[in-house]
Amino acid sequence: MRGRPSDWPFVRYVFDRGGRSGILWLLAQESVTMELRVIGCHGGETPNHRTSAFVLDERLAIDAGSLTSGLDLGAQFRLSACLVSHAHLDHIRDLATIADNRCQADCEPLVVAGTAATLRVLKKHFFNNLLWPDFTEIPNKTRPTLRFVELKPEKRTEVAGYQVRTVLVSHTIESAGFIVEGEDATVGYSGDTGPTDRLWELLNKEKNLKALLLEVSFPDREQRLATVSGHHTPRTLLKDLKKYARPKDLPALLYHIKPVFQSEVEQECARLKGVNLTVTAIGDQFVL
Ligand SMILES: [Zn+2]
Ligand SMILES: [Zn+2]
Repeated sequence: MRGRPSDWPFVRYVFDRGGRSGILWLLAQESVTMELRVIGCHGGETPNHRTSAFVLDERLAIDAGSLTSGLDLGAQFRLSACLVSHAHLDHIRDLATIADNRCQADCEPLVVAGTAATLRVLKKHFFNNLLWPDFTEIPNKTRPTLRFVELKPEKRTEVAGYQVRTVLVSHTIESAGFIVEGEDATVGYSGDTGPTDRLWELLNKEKNLKALLLEVSFPDREQRLATVSGHHTPRTLLKDLKKYARPKDLPALLYHIKPVFQSEVEQECARLKGVNLTVTAIGDQFVL
């Protein structure tokens, strides 16, 4: 665990890597503007790996792969909204269980925001009263447990007090990245994607971008598998990061590594030059 620099009073958390070293970056600002918590950051699950879920300022979740396996009830109830990048199970699965928990506690409706295609899959194949109850009508239609909000690509939409834009990326089904603007900090999220262009074009225009959560899934020797499944290897990740004007100045927080390849991908990423990479771990907390 890194110590807290005493001359940086704005720092509330440093991340605990269980003794492993990581790059800690802290941006000197008057006050804490955004706190990012890593709930799950892997492309698969074991007792030591959780699927994708991140939380900003305790109120906005980005993907729901581990919102109930990784958050206690209080933290589940404090969420206002969840951005859903795409409909693959490792990103939506805990919407089922968080809906169930929140319904029993009579919580405010949880906004579930995603593109029209993603919401269509959720309605038709998940909350369809077959696989799981339709929590957009439970306990009743006027005050349901879940409320779906459509995000139109690249159009700013207010969600849980943030301005959110979706950017379509390159995956096997429609998948979106996000640009989330807080008052003084902006964070990017790649979603599941292989090489892509538009996300980088938009990120290059961001004045206040503090960090990018960026997927990488397979080692370089599994490039074929990465290509057909719409994911990055360290090699394609480096190429894509160079589409950003100043890759060294952009803290890239890596997630979605497949548990089987964890150490191999980490080693390959550690060898990449001219970039600022941190492999995220469950429990990491970043102040942006
Ligand atoms: Zn996916
Ligand atoms: Zn995934």
